[in-house]
Amino acid sequence: MPSLNDIRSTFLDYFRRNGHEIVPSSPLVPRNDPTLMFTNSGMVQFKNLFTGLEKRAYTRAATAQKCVRAGGKHNDLDNVGYTARHHTFFEMLGNFSFGDYFKEQAIPYAWELLTREFGLDPKRLLVTVYHTDDEAAAIWKKVAGFSDDRIIRIPTDDNFWRMGPTGPCGPCTEIFFDHGEHVWGGPPGSAEEDGDRFIEIWNLVFMQNEQFEDGSMRALDMQSIDTGMGLERIGAVLQGKHDNYDTDLMRALIEASANATSTDPDGPGKVHHRVIADHLRSTSFLIADGVMPSNEGRGYVLRRIMRRAMRHAHLLGAQDPLMHRLVPALVRQMGTAYPELVRAQALIEETLKLEETRFKQTLDRGLKLLDEAVSRLGEGEPLPGETAFRLYDTYGFPLDLTQDALREMGRTVDVAGFDRAMQEQRAKARAAWAGSGETRDATIWFDLSERHGPTEFLGYETETAEGQI
Ligand code: ATP
Ligand code: MG
Ligand code: MG
Ligand code: MG
Repeated sequence: MPSLNDIRSTFLDYFRRNGHEIVPSSPLVPRNDPTLMFTNSGMVQFKNLFTGLEKRAYTRAATAQKCVRAGGKHNDLDNVGYTARHHTFFEMLGNFSFGDYFKEQAIPYAWELLTREFGLDPKRLLVTVYHTDDEAAAIWKKVAGFSDDRIIRIPTDDNFWRMGPTGPCGPCTEIFFDHGEHVWGGPPGSAEEDGDRFIEIWNLVFMQNEQFEDGSMRALDMQSIDTGMGLERIGAVLQGKHDNYDTDLMRALIEASANATSTDPDGPGKVHHRVIADHLRSTSFLIADGVMPSNEGRGYVLRRIMRRAMRHAHLLGAQDPLMHRLVPALVRQMGTAYPELVRAQALIEETLKLEETRFKQTLDRGLKLLDEAVSRLGEGEPLPGETAFRLYDTYGFPLDLTQDALREMGRTVDVAGFDRAMQEQRAKARAAWAGSGETRDATIWFDLSERHGPTEFLGYETETAEGQI
C-alpha cells in the first residue's frame, strides 16, 4: 500500500517524465500578495506566469504545495471533524502549463496517472464540466470512454474559475471518485452532493478567457492549465479508505494524540483526535513559515486554530499542554518532505507550549461558565451574545471557538448580540477615556481593542486574488 510520501513522489515523477519542472512548494504566507491570507492552492506562486507578467525558463511545472484554508474566502475550518475530506492544512498536487499544452493534453495526463500509474478502476470515476464546455466533454468521452451520464454538466461557478474580479478565468473539470453505496451522498449537481460518497479528488482549470472590469470577456492569446489534487484525498482512495483521516500519515498523528492522552483513538474522543491531528499540522506549518500567534490578521487565525485545538485537548482530559508533545510525530511523518519543519521544530514546540500554558486557566474557567450558561437555556435557544462576548473579552475565547463548542450540542450563538456587545464596549471605552489626558495610553488601548475585534478579518473576506478554484 503506497504511503502519502510515496504518492507524492509518484505524482511528481510522472510529470517530471512528461517534461515538467518540479518546483518546490512556496511558503504559506504568500510573497508580494497582501490580498491573500494564506497560500490556498498550487497556482498562487505562478500567478504572474499565467498573466504573462513574468517568464521563466520552463512552460510546464509540477508541485506539491502546502495549503491552508482557514481564513478568507476559502475557509474549511468549520468542516474539520465533520467531513471525511477537509483539512485546514493539506497538500495540493498540481501540474501547470503556462501557454504550453491545453485541455487536449491535460485531460489525458490526468486520466493516465489515475488509471495506469495509480491503477484506479475507471468505473469508480466520473467528472463534471462547465455546462458550455463541449470541448472538455468531448475529450473526456474520447479519452475515458465515459457515457454522457458520467460527464455531468454544471452551470454554476463551481465549474468556472476566476483569478479575481478581473484577469484570467475559465471553465474547469472536476474528477470525482465514487466511494460506494455504503456511504451517504449523491453525485455532483444532485441534492445529496454534500455527502461524502462522491469525493472530488482533482480539479483541472482551463484558463482560456480574460475578464474585464466592464463585464466583458475575451479569449486569451496564451491558454494555460492549472490543476490541483488533494494528496490526502487521493491517498485515502489509494489506501482503500473512505476517510482522509484514516490514511497512514493522519493516522500516525491521531495515534500520537491518543497515546499522549491515554485515550482510545476510535473511542468517544474520536472527533477530538481528528481535529487535533489537523490543527497540529496547520499550526506547525504556519509557525515554520514565520507566522506567530497574535491578535490580528494571520497571527490571529493561527491563535484561533491553536485555541480550538486546546479545547479539544481539554475535552480529552489533558491536564497539561498537549500540542507541543505531538510535534515529534509530525516531524517524523513530514520532516523529510518539508525540512523547514525540522529546522523550526524547537520554535514550534516552544510557541505551542507557551500559548497553551497561557490559555489553560482561562480555558478551564471559560468552559465552566459556558456549560452553566447553556444549562440555563431553553430548547433550541441560542447562547446570548453578551455571554459569548464575555467569554471573548474576559476569557480569550475567539467567537468561532464558542461556536465550535456549541455546535457539538446542536446550538448556535446570537452573533448580532455579540457584535452589539462589542460595539457597546468600544463606545464606553472611548467615552471613559475622553479628556483624561492620557492620550498615549489611550491610543495604545484603542489600538489593542480594535485589533481584538472580530471585524478585523473583513479585510480578508474581500481578497481579490483567489487561489484555485
Ligand atoms: P470541495 O468542493 O471538496 O470543498 P474544492 O472544490 O473547494 O473542494 P479546489 O479548490 O478545487 O477544492 O482544490 C483542488 C483540490 O484540492 C480538490 O479537488 C481537493 O482534492 C483538494 N482540497 C480542497 N480543499 C481541501 C481541504 N480543505 N482539505 C483537503 N483537500 C482539499
Ligand atoms: Mg471547498
Ligand atoms: Mg468543489
Ligand atoms: Mg474544486
